Amino acid sequence: MNRPTRREIEQWLTQISGETRVHLVGMGGCGMTGLAHLLLDMGFEVTGSDLCENSGLRQLQNRGAVFFLGHNAKKINENRPALVVYSSAIRLDNPELARANQLDIPIVRRAILLSALASCKRVVCVAGMHGKTTTTAMLAHTLEQLGNDVGFAVGAGVPQLGRHARMPSAENSFFVLEADESDGTLREFHPEHSIVLNIDEEHLDFYENFEAVCDEFIAFGKQTSGRLIYCADDPLLPEVYANNLNSISYGFNPVADYQVEIIGPKEFIVRHHQQSIGKFRVGLFGEQNISNAVAVVAFLHSNGFAPNNISEALGKFKGVNRRQQELSCDHRYRIFDDYGHHPREIRATLAALNEQCSGRLLVAFQPHRYTRTKHLLGDFAQCFDGVDLLWITEVYAASEAPIDNINGRRLAEAISESGQPAAFAATLEILRDKIRNALRPGDTILFLGAGDITQVAHQLAKDMHMKEMTHTTELRGLLSSQSTVLENEPLGRHTTLGVGGPAEIYIEPAEEKELAVVLRYAVDKGVPVFILGRGSNLLVRDGGIRGVVISLRHESFSEIEVVDAQIHCGAGARLNHIANAARDAGLKGMEFMEGIPGCLGGALRMNAGAWGGATFEQVIQVRYMSYDGQIEERAADQMGAVYRSCPVLRDHIALGAVLQGVHAEKELVRSTMDELRKQRTESQPHYRSAGCMFKNPEGFSAGKLVDECRLKGLSEGGAKVSEQHGNFIVNDGTATAEDVISLIDTVRTKVREIRGIDLQTEVQIVGER
Ligand SMILES: Cc1cc2nc3c(=O)[nH]c(=O)nc-3n(C[C@H](O)[C@H](O)[C@H](O)COP(=O)(O)OP(=O)(O)OC[C@H]3O[C@@H](n4cnc5c(N)ncnc54)[C@H](O)[C@@H]3O)c2cc1C
Repeated sequence: MNRPTRREIEQWLTQISGETRVHLVGMGGCGMTGLAHLLLDMGFEVTGSDLCENSGLRQLQNRGAVFFLGHNAKKINENRPALVVYSSAIRLDNPELARANQLDIPIVRRAILLSALASCKRVVCVAGMHGKTTTTAMLAHTLEQLGNDVGFAVGAGVPQLGRHARMPSAENSFFVLEADESDGTLREFHPEHSIVLNIDEEHLDFYENFEAVCDEFIAFGKQTSGRLIYCADDPLLPEVYANNLNSISYGFNPVADYQVEIIGPKEFIVRHHQQSIGKFRVGLFGEQNISNAVAVVAFLHSNGFAPNNISEALGKFKGVNRRQQELSCDHRYRIFDDYGHHPREIRATLAALNEQCSGRLLVAFQPHRYTRTKHLLGDFAQCFDGVDLLWITEVYAASEAPIDNINGRRLAEAISESGQPAAFAATLEILRDKIRNALRPGDTILFLGAGDITQVAHQLAKDMHMKEMTHTTELRGLLSSQSTVLENEPLGRHTTLGVGGPAEIYIEPAEEKELAVVLRYAVDKGVPVFILGRGSNLLVRDGGIRGVVISLRHESFSEIEVVDAQIHCGAGARLNHIANAARDAGLKGMEFMEGIPGCLGGALRMNAGAWGGATFEQVIQVRYMSYDGQIEERAADQMGAVYRSCPVLRDHIALGAVLQGVHAEKELVRSTMDELRKQRTESQPHYRSAGCMFKNPEGFSAGKLVDECRLKGLSEGGAKVSEQHGNFIVNDGTATAEDVISLIDTVRTKVREIRGIDLQTEVQIVGER
């Protein structure tokens, strides 16, 4: 067989010219998909085959790769590739490999070609048994955010990177590679730097014993010319790399060069040789992900990147497909899909989910490969402790031949014998039905395994979504066509700050009766309700608001009627319209409302005020609805209004109010309003904002504190502390809610550090992360 070495392939790469065809056998696998992208980036013609199609293959086809379903020797005859590459999942008796052999076409393994393609770049390899996909993606994404032209090859889809792999365009760019140890190809890599996360008893189908696994990692360490960054918490790595002079350790271990301390659910401090280098945040949960993030921090810091910049860039990483990936999250269920197929990974994911989720934890596990199930049977039996319901499926073979008495049923029995009840689900259809029948609101469902169990996870998430969507259909059926009912309505459109994810269901009821219908439906079905005014005092998180968001924008809620010195207003009436109506009727008292961009409902709830006036000073009567649709009325002094809040309206929906004015000269009211408008225009920014972000602490002005701490102009993504008014955070048009929230955190931290004062937000932060 013509099996070129890595050096020969490197040589070949320097000689080829024109369009050269490379054929990938098993192109749909994660690693192979990435390799195909790299080849396309380099101008190769790419063909490939696999047993089934997937989204990764479709993306390659869109880029010009040719895909054949099934393995067929004829395709090799017809296409005559210059090189054939195969994945570790392909057996050597594959018909395409056999034909390439007959035709004397060179044949290489995936890792050999990958390492040859990378040979003239600044390669950073991420290796280890668990977590390398996430860490590779995290490092590549962080480098990209830091402004680098980074290349990468990751063994899974990473939505933020767009695809599995990309070739860097410049010679001196970093090229971050996930280096696989499963088939003895780790030593094919000669990286400039490497990160090693852990070492474990894995792949004993390939390696003779665990010592051989360790030898592979030792050889890999020796081949790293620059820094070797390894986890000091791993029981073996400190010993494995004890003699490596260029090594740097990281982890929770007090002797680590980069030592981490967790200070919040996703936050941590890193110390380099006992000196704190800063605070970091990672958008993933669980201790394991914090450890992975510290590896990235250690690499970047030791390569000269500034901690502040690392922190900002790292905080934006959102994760990798199938790694603790949340497929669905609503007020009833959370569904996670995870690739974990080793006891250590399973334990880490269960620990992270237990921290996150309050209800029952339901787990479905598909064992991956007979050999692994056999070698780790005892360990698997012990790693699901504390799960509320557990199902084990049949083993996913991954091209292995079955082993006698090693199967899903046997594993389920072994787990049950160890004290954790586990049921066997013979097929994925049975599994899906069992889970659906067992579900109760509040449950978290975790699908685990490297095989096709992910399909059940996606199907269940889709089914749940469909079920959720029936609320919209049912509500539409209950309401008249005058009411507006929208699904997934972006709330950035309904808030003055202009950020935030969607409302699951958004409703503008046409009248009070229809509002009552929606409220009763929501109580009946257990759907949460949120009342939106004009969105001028709200910061909606990027995950949007679950359940129903109701806005009283319909004209029937916005009426304004002046009766002698009283103004009868609907809750949807805008404050400036009320102020204008008062002015036109020659009534004073409402001038302060002129520049407040809310509606009466929001102003009542917030007891909005300005220039010494406040809503409840003018209100004499309030009409409101309870969340079960009952209408009541109360005198204003029975509403318990205090500074910037009316607690009764926390649990009730304002429908309208009667405001008391005092007869005055129209011109006098007009000139007061003109003066107030002028002062606002001069003192407040003209960008999108939610008004004053912080409450004034007793005896202080929040705006002045921000100014005195020199925080004006501070920015985070598209959010910025206004140069004009220290208490305004403005959106330049590109901000996300996350940008605004992190800027709020920074301002609060700095004011606390410098002035010892804890600022509280006046703006309400609502919705899902
Ligand atoms: C540029 C700018 C300047 C501002 N200036 C001022 C100011 O000078 N003084 C001031 O006090 N505020 C100010 N604000 C903040 C804001 O305008 C007020 O708090 C306003 O009253 C909020 O009304 P809204 O309709 O936008 O309510 P939203 O922001 O939509 O909602 C605020 C709260 O009210 C609740 N709510 C809304 N409608 C109802 C209802 N019908 N029944 C029960 N609860 C309801 C919501 O659930 C939410 O909890 C300013 C904001 C901006 C953007």
